[in-house]
Amino acid sequence: MKKTLVVANWKMNPTTLRVAKTIFSDTKKSLSKLNGVEVVICPPSVYLSELKRLSSGNKISFGAQNCFNQEKGPWTGEISPVMLMTSGAKFIILGHSENRRGGDNDEIVNQKIKLALKSGLDVILCVGEKERDEDGHYFRFLKKQILDDLEGIGKNYLKNILIAYEPLWAIGVGAEKVITDKQLQEVTIFIKKVLVDKYNVKDFKDVRILYGGSVSYKIIDDLAETDVDGFLVGRDSLSQEKFSKLLKVIGSK
Ligand code: PEP
Repeated sequence: MKKTLVVANWKMNPTTLRVAKTIFSDTKKSLSKLNGVEVVICPPSVYLSELKRLSSGNKISFGAQNCFNQEKGPWTGEISPVMLMTSGAKFIILGHSENRRGGDNDEIVNQKIKLALKSGLDVILCVGEKERDEDGHYFRFLKKQILDDLEGIGKNYLKNILIAYEPLWAIGVGAEKVITDKQLQEVTIFIKKVLVDKYNVKDFKDVRILYGGSVSYKIIDDLAETDVDGFLVGRDSLSQEKFSKLLKVIGSK
């Protein structure tokens, strides 16, 4: 059976390692009774090695939330993908809207993706439009963003890339709207087609799409019936009660 991937993006939370350990062990407990779900926890990178030390089994792996676009050298405060990998990360989130807002344009995102893949990490590339227009210009925006970010990245890396569709209008505390299952299905097929065409692959199954944007147990039922391969969860991944309910619904599909 194909497993649904749930990526927990903790962002800059929690403020202590002690609480991080508690959230991690709660997540482990919630997952223990479930089949069909795999979780990637993306904590602040300073917690990676310690949480990795506490992990066992194959249902949980770790991811980083960003990296620098250079491997090593005189870059004060920066962290390279290879350092994140040796600290326990298997995945890395890149192109998150919060980092794009902070200056990561498509060229920088592309450099980071190349370096992360070369370093052995699987990339979760976040893409998404700011707003939707009636004429469907957002499809064009999405296609360009994906193709620019993946410029020069060969087919041999396709298995190491997941696209997380995160429309800005649906993510975070300021979310204006909730995505419908119909909207999600349409855009999932669109993104899969962009990748199938770019890489000339035969099957939609060869490309993996996640959805992120106010994902919660309250709206997951319908979204989980679409062709997405998993979810990227922000706020609700930090609450034991909400995250365990969410995993339970996904695990029951
Ligand atoms: C995010 O910012 O990546 C995200 C998915 O957040 P939330 O689930 O809180 O909307």
